[in-house]
Amino acid sequence: MPATILDGQKIAAEIKAEIAEEVKALTALGIRPGLAAVLVGTDPASEVYVRSKVKACEALGIYSEKITPASNVTTEEMLELVADLNRRDNIDGILVQLPLPKHVDAKAVLLAVSPEKDVDGFHPMNVGNLSTQRPGLVPCTPLGCMEILKRSKIPIAGSNAVVIGRSDIVGKPIAMLLLNANATVTVCHSKTKDLPGVSRQADILIAAIGRAGMVTRDFVKPGAAVIDVGMNRVTDPAEFKRMFAGNAKREQDFAAKGSTLMGDVHPEVAEVAGAITPVPGGVGPLTIAMLMSNTVKAAKLRRGAGKRATTTARGE
Ligand code: NDP
Repeated sequence: MPATILDGQKIAAEIKAEIAEEVKALTALGIRPGLAAVLVGTDPASEVYVRSKVKACEALGIYSEKITPASNVTTEEMLELVADLNRRDNIDGILVQLPLPKHVDAKAVLLAVSPEKDVDGFHPMNVGNLSTQRPGLVPCTPLGCMEILKRSKIPIAGSNAVVIGRSDIVGKPIAMLLLNANATVTVCHSKTKDLPGVSRQADILIAAIGRAGMVTRDFVKPGAAVIDVGMNRVTDPAEFKRMFAGNAKREQDFAAKGSTLMGDVHPEVAEVAGAITPVPGGVGPLTIAMLMSNTVKAAKLRRGAGKRATTTARGE
């Protein structure tokens, strides 16, 4: 039986509808959540990301501000900008779009963001909050993966979860959220021995690698839930053919754009898995939804109004 497709667009729409209600109620109390997005330079991909984040804020009634320093901005100027946003009362969340230009000390800038306004959840204070199950802000993509699992009623407690990838912004926080939700978690990386064998133990398999179609059917236990975080642009026609030969929709897409977006999971996995997230339309839409959720959560935490039940550090 082919895998159930876990529809990220639908789940993100549900979450956004809930957030819009919450924003309405908070605004009525005089608390309008606000997000500042800092975009340095003119990187087209970053511009697209920031535009979609600002648009999502507008749709949900969240105040947003886009700040666009020139690409020759110095580290000191960025630190001053962040300090100013930290002080401002109408800003609850600060998002510094990465990558920053090479001459800017990105680590220093991210560290300067007040942990209370760190809606990306990258600050070491929030990393500590997550690992010790204290209230705090958790990275958006990992939170999105948890929402997909929970809202799709995939059992987490007691399951074997395997996370491929150990980055600070995706792999590690996903592993921590799964552990906090009582899964037995294995974290794999480029030095893991027998990756397919380890992955095949998983009831829940998370691929956060950044390699198109690397996770093939021999990585997957029949019936497992597979969450594909990867976002890879395939431009090589031979690679495209290996992945999508016979898929008319993809072929059209590739012919029109000369590329197609795919995850880390090979399409053949859909024949083995019990449930799977598509790319595009899986984890991606959740990332923005959870940024909105984090902005509302930050507004509430900072003003002592409690926290959203869907985004606790336990990931429950
Ligand atoms: P990183 O490059 O920071 O991390 C990749 C991880 O994969 C590393 O831990 C690396 O291991 C591991 N890895 C690489 N090659 C192999 C291999 N052959 N076998 C086993 N493990 C391997 O990437 P990110 O975590 O930032 O992102 C991962 C993917 O998720 C990317 O495709 C990115 O575009 C996507 N992404 C998607 C988002 C969304 O909204 N859907 C948001 C953020 C990211 P090692 O540590 O040993 O080098």
